[in-house]
Amino acid sequence: MHTIVALATPPGRSAIGVVRLSGPLSFSILQSLTKLDVVEPGSASLQTLKDPVSNEVIDRAVVTCFKAPHSFTGEDVVEISCHGSPVLLRRVINTVLRMDAQLAEPGEFTLRALTHGKLDLSQAEAIRDLIEARTEAAARHAVRQMSGAMSATLRPIEERLLDIIVLLESALEFVEDDLPEVQSRQIQLHLGELEAELEKLASSFRTGHLLRNGLRITIVGRPNAGKSSLFNKLLQVERAIVTDVPGTTRDSLSEQISLRGIPVLLTDTAGVRESSDLIESIGVERTLRAMVDADLLLVVIDGASELGADDLDILERTSESRRIIVLNKSDLPSFRRDVLKDFGGKGKVLEVSAHSGAGLSELSVAILEPFGSVDSEDVGLLITDARHFDLLRRSQEELQSSTGRLEEGASEELVLVGLHNALRYLGQITGETTTEDVLSRIFATFCIGK
Ligand code: GDP
Repeated sequence: MHTIVALATPPGRSAIGVVRLSGPLSFSILQSLTKLDVVEPGSASLQTLKDPVSNEVIDRAVVTCFKAPHSFTGEDVVEISCHGSPVLLRRVINTVLRMDAQLAEPGEFTLRALTHGKLDLSQAEAIRDLIEARTEAAARHAVRQMSGAMSATLRPIEERLLDIIVLLESALEFVEDDLPEVQSRQIQLHLGELEAELEKLASSFRTGHLLRNGLRITIVGRPNAGKSSLFNKLLQVERAIVTDVPGTTRDSLSEQISLRGIPVLLTDTAGVRESSDLIESIGVERTLRAMVDADLLLVVIDGASELGADDLDILERTSESRRIIVLNKSDLPSFRRDVLKDFGGKGKVLEVSAHSGAGLSELSVAILEPFGSVDSEDVGLLITDARHFDLLRRSQEELQSSTGRLEEGASEELVLVGLHNALRYLGQITGETTTEDVLSRIFATFCIGK
């Protein structure tokens, strides 16, 4: 296998930039760069890096070496912590490339770790998820999967399935007649239990998917209903993750927040109304787009004034969407909770005050209600990856059809086909039975240097 090199830290200026090498030439390349006589694995040392051709000093760097198989990839690994200058780092990498190393593909270090049995596929995927996690809850869950929670959950299921397969295989081999009725019923029972366990795992995808991919929530309502106030209050109450998308009051404005551990992209919009003003109509267009993209709408109604034509218009326009109607300004004396009494539309109604914050925790509970909790300690393993979910479902379907065949008294061969398929699908989650092209597709989603 060839030796690979990549920048392991983000591109751009920083205090330190780490260049990572893995493969058989790692140590000899390091020796050419540093004129070290011996490479001492398991230790870090300060070295002067020189261009082997011109002998010019490139940088002074801390060098860490790991000898195979005691490294992340299972190969000889060298990590060079240089000063974090993009120009310098490019030079170090180019110098290494001239010494027969190749630039690593995305995720290639992790792929090598997988190849050398340092981790299984679901653990490798968890490393990617950990790096990409947007909330603490998502990171915590990725760490759990990285520590092997997926295989620990699946292995007992696989073993029990294998026991059933062995039983049927030997019946096929040694028994002349059909499987005795009692035994068949016993097997059906076991398969039913396994299927229920897969169902439990697969159904956690609803929550797990949200933990990884987040939720898009858009705030709509007529001008002065209190959208911006609600937006700002939610940012204050729920932690904002990153401030990225800037905008004006006429534009739509988005922020990432962590709503009880779920990453939420919260968007405030300009009022939805027809307008001849060009800038304003751009705002309206963005609003309509943000509404279409949203997983959930918060329709803000000013509860302290009469329901107007524009309120009814927005309630009408959003009637087919998933929405929560937020009756705002509950702190005002003129607030009337029955302001919507003549309006027969669908949607949960909650009273809040964007000023005092009253009702906001009820609002976040209501937002997440359909998805279950992710933030508590007792949440078990969640399926966060669509690939895992799909394989669990397929495995489940195979178990169901095998159970059906057993009930019909079909031959053991037929039953076994389904059981072998079910086992193979489970194996694809942890990578035991994953094909090369699937692997390369998965690792293409990793960042370079990982
Ligand atoms: P937007 O046009 O929908 O974004 O509404 P704003 O958030 O700008 O609010 C319009 C006006 O209503 C401002 O004067 C706010 O201070 C006021 N307002 C918003 N929410 C509340 C609330 O909960 N209570 C009170 N008393 N006033 C509010």
